[in-house]
Amino acid sequence: ASKDKQQTTIFDKIISKEIPADIIYEDDKCLAFNDVNPQAPVHFLVIPKQRIPMLDSVKDSDKDIMAELVLRAQKLAKERLPNGYRLVINNGKQGCQSVYHLHIHILGGRQLGWPPG
Ligand code: 5GP
Repeated sequence: ASKDKQQTTIFDKIISKEIPADIIYEDDKCLAFNDVNPQAPVHFLVIPKQRIPMLDSVKDSDKDIMAELVLRAQKLAKERLPNGYRLVINNGKQGCQSVYHLHIHILGGRQLGWPPG
């Protein structure tokens, strides 16, 4: 139980509605909500409801949820961002991951730069 507690993040509180978020999609497996500190005119996150800390933690048995997350990101992005968009998964320290609950960033609504800083 204590180990479970250690892995709890703010996103668990968003999933359980203990803290509010601007939720744009929800089903039994995943949740999508607008990023509180947007880096583009459209910036939302798609997360699994199950606790997966980071991309490095993903196992072969997580194939279905990973496919769900990417497809959900595509569906939500396609209807909001017809001119293009970007998916990002930050992993670990040098990847600038700050919340250790797996999430896909979806960014768009302006011309994005490449490569990222
Ligand atoms: P990371 O740096 O881990 O890839 O991204 C975490 C993202 O979560 C950041 O873009 C940050 O703005 C967002 N974020 C952190 N806390 C909250 C929160 O309480 N609510 C919402 N909506 N977004 C959050």
